[in-house]
Amino acid sequence: MLSIAQNLDRQDALAALRQQFYLPQGTIYLDGNSLGALPVAAKERAVEVVNQQWGQDLITSWNKHAWIDLPLHCGELIAPLIGAAPGQVICCDSISVNLFKVLSAALQMQKGRSKVITTVDNFPTDIYVIEGLRQQLGEVSCELVLSEESEIETQLDERIAILLLTQVNFRSGRLLDMRRITELAHEKGILVVWDLAHSAGALPVKLDGCNADFAVGCTYKYLNGGPGAPAFIYVAQRHQGEFQQPISGWMGHAAPFSFNSAYAPVPGVKQNLSGTPAVIAMSVLEAALNVWSDVDMLRVRQKSMAMGEFFLECLKACGLDDEFVCVSPDSALERGSQLAFQHQHAYAICQAWIDAGVIADFRAPDLLRVGFTPLYISFEELWQAVNKLKLIMENKEYLRDAYQSIQTVT
Ligand SMILES: *Cc1c(COP(=O)(O)O)cnc(C)c1O
Repeated sequence: MLSIAQNLDRQDALAALRQQFYLPQGTIYLDGNSLGALPVAAKERAVEVVNQQWGQDLITSWNKHAWIDLPLHCGELIAPLIGAAPGQVICCDSISVNLFKVLSAALQMQKGRSKVITTVDNFPTDIYVIEGLRQQLGEVSCELVLSEESEIETQLDERIAILLLTQVNFRSGRLLDMRRITELAHEKGILVVWDLAHSAGALPVKLDGCNADFAVGCTYKYLNGGPGAPAFIYVAQRHQGEFQQPISGWMGHAAPFSFNSAYAPVPGVKQNLSGTPAVIAMSVLEAALNVWSDVDMLRVRQKSMAMGEFFLECLKACGLDDEFVCVSPDSALERGSQLAFQHQHAYAICQAWIDAGVIADFRAPDLLRVGFTPLYISFEELWQAVNKLKLIMENKEYLRDAYQSIQTVT
């Protein structure tokens, strides 16, 4: 397996990109699906924005260093990665807040319909935000419907206002068919909101090509924007006239510096801005997004699929495939850029693996999740990681007391 891995690494057209990232010596990082690694350019930008822009140029930086344009500019850098033509993506807030905005606006656009449907195993924040809206608007205006992922298509009917789906399931990694589902929903007059948390930077997304209505996503996972980096929101051009989000703050005003007491939204996707953007975070994000300028998403997808397959082969070669039950789809075409394995001791195994220099993560109740980030992970590392796992299992290291207590963040 080692020589196969080394061969794959030699043929890897993305291998050189690793130099654009800091990765700690002796660590194999299989959790870039939760927090992307630090790009060299992002670190340099953080120093510059603090020392020079904030430290020296102070408030003049809003114009001098175009801080005011960062949300739209970062949106334009993300747009090609998710198949969006210019003028439809902006960076702001978190996915949760952006979901609140987009769901509120979409409900307003769907007069006479109140149901918002999503999957029971969606990322909880997506469900919580619908719950919050229901609390606020009342059941008559906003009704939450939860469906099994496998049954979602049969649940779509004319009473549903909005379908909210995460394209790649955060646990299983199952990849939904955006084109087909969007089309089915549109046939019933349903607006679709796609959560791209595990898609953006992981695989090619074609929002315009699939005739998508709205999307949200985060930038701290595969886009490497840094912990808590601002999220993004996509509003299809054709909806921008009618779309009106409820957190009508001054940054989304047509003329924020006229300080007019009457709110008048700026036309277009910019209306999604509410308050002052997190300039330091967004500057760092901009530098991180520049890493993608010459990256072909099809190559990323090819390598990501090859990594998933190779990881499974490594498990088999080490005799671990029976013990770790893969709950992700069998076919790489139906997966995002991660694999999840069920194991009774998943949490403790993950802790022992981290101690051995391999960072993956645990998702309650019993999943070990492994993420593949093609920009900076090699096939040889995957082979080494599985070998370390083999030792942990052989020596039953996961039974040690130190690995049993569950920390706040898993
Ligand atoms: C990571 C993730 C989020 C995170 O939401 P924030 O509000 O940005 O913290 C939301 N949805 C999904 C599917 C995720 O995986």
